[in-house]
Amino acid sequence: MSTSSTEHLPSYLNPNDPGPWAVFLEQVDRVTPYLGEYAQWVDTLKHPERTLIVNIPVKMDDGRIEHFEGYRVQHNLSCGPGKGGVRFHQEVSLSETMALSAWMSIKTAVVGIPYGGAKGGVRIDPRNYSAAEMERITRRYMEEISKVIGVKQDIPGPDVNASAQTMAWMMDSYSKKVGEYSPGIVTGKPIELGGSLGRAESTGRGVFTIATEAARDANIAIEGARVCVQGFGNVGGIAGKLLHEAGAKVIAVQDHTGTIFNADGLDVPAVLAQVKATGGVAGSANCDTIENSEFWRLECEILIPAALAGQIHKDNAEHINAKLIVEGANGPTTPAADDILKKRNVRVVPDVLANAGGVTVSYFEWVQNLSSFYWSVEEVNQRLDDIMRAAYANLSATAEEHQVSLRTAAFIAACERILKANQLLGA
Ligand code: NAD
Repeated sequence: MSTSSTEHLPSYLNPNDPGPWAVFLEQVDRVTPYLGEYAQWVDTLKHPERTLIVNIPVKMDDGRIEHFEGYRVQHNLSCGPGKGGVRFHQEVSLSETMALSAWMSIKTAVVGIPYGGAKGGVRIDPRNYSAAEMERITRRYMEEISKVIGVKQDIPGPDVNASAQTMAWMMDSYSKKVGEYSPGIVTGKPIELGGSLGRAESTGRGVFTIATEAARDANIAIEGARVCVQGFGNVGGIAGKLLHEAGAKVIAVQDHTGTIFNADGLDVPAVLAQVKATGGVAGSANCDTIENSEFWRLECEILIPAALAGQIHKDNAEHINAKLIVEGANGPTTPAADDILKKRNVRVVPDVLANAGGVTVSYFEWVQNLSSFYWSVEEVNQRLDDIMRAAYANLSATAEEHQVSLRTAAFIAACERILKANQLLGA
């Protein structure tokens, strides 16, 4: 039976500063009362299945050898091989990688794709290294983790500071090691190496699909709905474009260059062209520039945070004037803000559902690689839509059954799915 989360801190984490892993443990504790017969298996979720720490010695351009620390964590593999990105960042830590791997278990279970959760990372500030050094670091990291990953064991993908090129290097290193062309070892590859059509747009497209589903339930017509988007990159830009094409009025966009506003609706294709040309929305035509803080007070039907974590917090949640929030970014709403929004009847569709389009099309990429048979973009998009709508319906039903938020429903549904698989497999 479950015990309190502090008893589950592994000896290799600092009990005084356990980091993001402690957040995940708390989230599991919170949904345990809803798990019925599966609660007896819940401690399984509190122990990552496998945790690998690797040393990455690499020769620098000037001949020196530098050592980097890398991780690969497989949180739970009951529903399928591990799936999760690799992050290159100076703040990568074991605790963070463990938590991110657990959240991948939740996300893959929410959309019902046959994967478990995993994550990897290298503790490095890539800005300080040349492209040639990054290639050697990536290849050496891949060699080190290849002892625990595999096409049917654990499939990395890109995360912060990793690109399609990074995936190409990882695939090449692995293929050489095993002596087989192995595109299915990573996802997020260039199209020429077995990447999937539609992958680049998939997260934004999934956000759009979920926004339309949630709008229907909130009695919001997409035609004419006022939409505000924070972050107009891969996720926010595509979601904004699709909503604009569906007849919504994107009235405000905020990015790292500022906030633009037009009460009659922005010219979204023109704003996207501005971003492409200059790197940001600032300077777009036919709109006003407003204070960044004003963005969070605008009256609108749908608000899409698609930039950074922690953007909706206790200080701005009181002023949010949206009916629906669809989380494109990972972790954009703090728990304190979540409570405030709940009291104010703002419906929040959580990240683990709203931005799961990316991992879903990564799954399609892997399926195509395994069968060496490639799909049209129409087929990819149709299958993505089907999965996102089914996942939304499932979470809505769970939320209704337990009278909880969609975020709590996501954890309940995902933990149930994983623990049922665990129970069937046995200890
Ligand atoms: P991106 O780099 O393409 O775009 C990021 C956007 O955020 C840019 O418009 C940038 O200007 C904006 N931004 C950065 N700093 C900002 C600030 N201080 N204030 C306002 N805006 C700021 O990134 P992306 O791929 O669109 O990812 C956005 C979010 O979605 C991240 O949280 C990411 O983890 C999450 N996410 C992405 C994917 C994916 O497939 N790309 C999948 C799941 C989750």
